[in-house]
Amino acid sequence: MIAENLQKVRDTLKPNVQLVAVSKFHPVEALQEAYAAGQRVFGESHVQELMGKQAVMPSDVEWHFIGHLQTNKVKYIAPFISLIHSADSVKLLKEIDKQGQKCGRVVDVLLQIHVAQEETKFGFTPDELLDWLATEEWKAMGHIRIVGLMAMGTNTNDETQIAREFETVRQLFHTVKESHFADQPPFRELSMGMSGDYLIAQERGSTMVRVGSLIFGERIYQ
Ligand SMILES: *Cc1c(COP(=O)(O)O)cnc(C)c1O
Repeated sequence: MIAENLQKVRDTLKPNVQLVAVSKFHPVEALQEAYAAGQRVFGESHVQELMGKQAVMPSDVEWHFIGHLQTNKVKYIAPFISLIHSADSVKLLKEIDKQGQKCGRVVDVLLQIHVAQEETKFGFTPDELLDWLATEEWKAMGHIRIVGLMAMGTNTNDETQIAREFETVRQLFHTVKESHFADQPPFRELSMGMSGDYLIAQERGSTMVRVGSLIFGERIYQ
């Protein structure tokens, strides 16, 4: 079932779009099934759960952190995480930089942009992002590498609204790329799109989609 679901999603993706299989709340057996079907990139949103799965899954899995990350937990994932999609504050970036230094790594991060209509969502507003990049503070952070932006669309059936939000982020990405990262080819990722809206995101220039329930089924929250 998981293998078929994976294939269905893959069949709809443009060749340059990377599929992050969001496995949060699903048991390790589900990840193993996806792994057997060739999936190597998995997204998790809770540190403890991620650690448990990382300990038993094969070592060539690429782990992506996609949820809100508390600063006091960065130290647990800094040694192995491939990409943190959800760098949503300067404080968190500083901590990732610090922990990267401690374990001798440069940690790839995406800056999370807040565009959705939900008050509880984390991230930089477009203005906050531009203001912070202008400080050039990030240039002194030698143990993080900013490789792009991440965003979530509003949880709504209004596809026009979602498309508008993704378009805003796409434009912000190009603005920022030109003004601050023109000489940095690794700045090229736009993580947008989940099960309900990844096709819209893909049309708006997403390079990474984070798909969970379409692959693994509904999550059961305990
Ligand atoms: C859970 C989650 C997803 C996946 O959601 P689905 O609707 O199951 O595809 C994607 N991105 C983030 C940040 C998430 O927390």
